[in-house]
Amino acid sequence: MRRFVFLLLRLTGLPFLLRELMQRRRVSILCYHDPRPEDFERHLRVLTKLYNVIPLCRYLDWRRTGESELPRKALVITLDDGHKGNFLLREVLRRHDVPATIFVCSGVIGTRRHFWWKEAPDTERERLKQIDHTERLLKLAADTGFTETREYTERQALSMEETEELGRFVSFQSHTRFHPVLPTCGDKQAMEEIRGSKIELERVLGTSVSALAYPNGSYTEREMQFAREAGYECALTTDGGYNGRNNDRYRLPRLCMSDGAEENEVVVKASGLWSAWERCRRHLSAEQTPFRDRAANVAQDNAIS
Ligand SMILES: [Zn+2]
Repeated sequence: MRRFVFLLLRLTGLPFLLRELMQRRRVSILCYHDPRPEDFERHLRVLTKLYNVIPLCRYLDWRRTGESELPRKALVITLDDGHKGNFLLREVLRRHDVPATIFVCSGVIGTRRHFWWKEAPDTERERLKQIDHTERLLKLAADTGFTETREYTERQALSMEETEELGRFVSFQSHTRFHPVLPTCGDKQAMEEIRGSKIELERVLGTSVSALAYPNGSYTEREMQFAREAGYECALTTDGGYNGRNNDRYRLPRLCMSDGAEENEVVVKASGLWSAWERCRRHLSAEQTPFRDRAANVAQDNAIS
């Protein structure tokens, strides 16, 4: 059924029209998480035929200086969280000579600490994203023994050695320290997560960290303000849409891609058609989109992958 839907959507010709009319002079940013190398290989084969992949920094330079034209249909590839599986993508990136940005959690990479949502029971995960940050940690500790700094036997995130080797192909940027849903945090906690990760990553990576991806795509005006105050040049959301020279730097939209998508789904989602449809659907059903709804919608989108 899913395959059929994306085949039909592709056959409407709308992805082609969006590419030629909307994406031609704009920058589209894709958001992945933990794709398998064979899937990522398939995706890049399709994407490099339809788009010109550029690094995030080139887009930011273009905005900043106004110089040098960007290629038509520019596409930026990003991956969130810094899963250890990302290390397996290095050969694919090298083969296609494609730049990528990985948003990592400074409190998790290089350790055997776990991502909180991977410890949460499937039935609880969405509810936990919406409750107060401290309450969520208390609940996880009571139910599963999870704490943010507990070292487990199995590693979930990239090690420092892997990060170093991947650094030849990718740029590492910030995804906070421990991946809280920022709007559920108090002011102090939210600022520590945003500012702290920049400082920690710059120290361990020895490079400047200028971009933040909001965990879970959840943010409010406060998070945008904190990102600015912490010295980031930009912050990325999972709101669908395209980027130009003048859209808000602290709310750069990305298009969510399912890690294991088939070719038609890749073409449809990269065109922005799917996220536009999702926005329409929410609008028509008169849903409000405070951070909670937005987070839930993104999760829902990822859950059907
Ligand atoms: Zn994330």
